[in-house]
Amino acid sequence: MGYTVVRPWGYNRYGEDRFNKFLKTVPEKLRRRIYEAQPKDWYPAKDAYTLLDLIRAEFGQEGFEDYVHYLFTESVSGFMRGLASFINPESLSKRTNAMWLRIHSHGRVEPVITGKNSVQYTLYDWEAGRVSCELFEIWLCELLLMSRAKSVEIQKTHCVHDGHPFCRWDVRFTT
Ligand SMILES: [Zn+2]
Repeated sequence: MGYTVVRPWGYNRYGEDRFNKFLKTVPEKLRRRIYEAQPKDWYPAKDAYTLLDLIRAEFGQEGFEDYVHYLFTESVSGFMRGLASFINPESLSKRTNAMWLRIHSHGRVEPVITGKNSVQYTLYDWEAGRVSCELFEIWLCELLLMSRAKSVEIQKTHCVHDGHPFCRWDVRFTT
């Protein structure tokens, strides 16, 4: 996930010299992937989160979120963007799992509509590190903001990293 966009993102934001210097600090196995990965390749999610942690350590929370946003934009095809832009957040929520599986090899997203403008999302079978939960939150918000949601509030209620059997979020949005 994301290896092919790391360099375009980094070079654009920080310049080739600075970013290549950063890449020299990345473990050999990951660095090779960054230079050789093809867009359709699947790799273990854990490694991608290692990379995200390294990006945050080097470029801060702002750089981390900027990268995740970039990753999201790159991974959602024009077709998906077009689809999301004209359906309402409720219908979009029902398709969340299908969208998730387009960019992840496993895991399952279960949305439950809890009110007119609220949805509870549960993520099952996805234990790739704490950063993956943050990534999911950002992914979900971006997806909803692509639909007709004008603002999104998200509250995490469960996490596998806190001993719960799944990760869960309550989401409210305005339209
Ligand atoms: Zn979690």
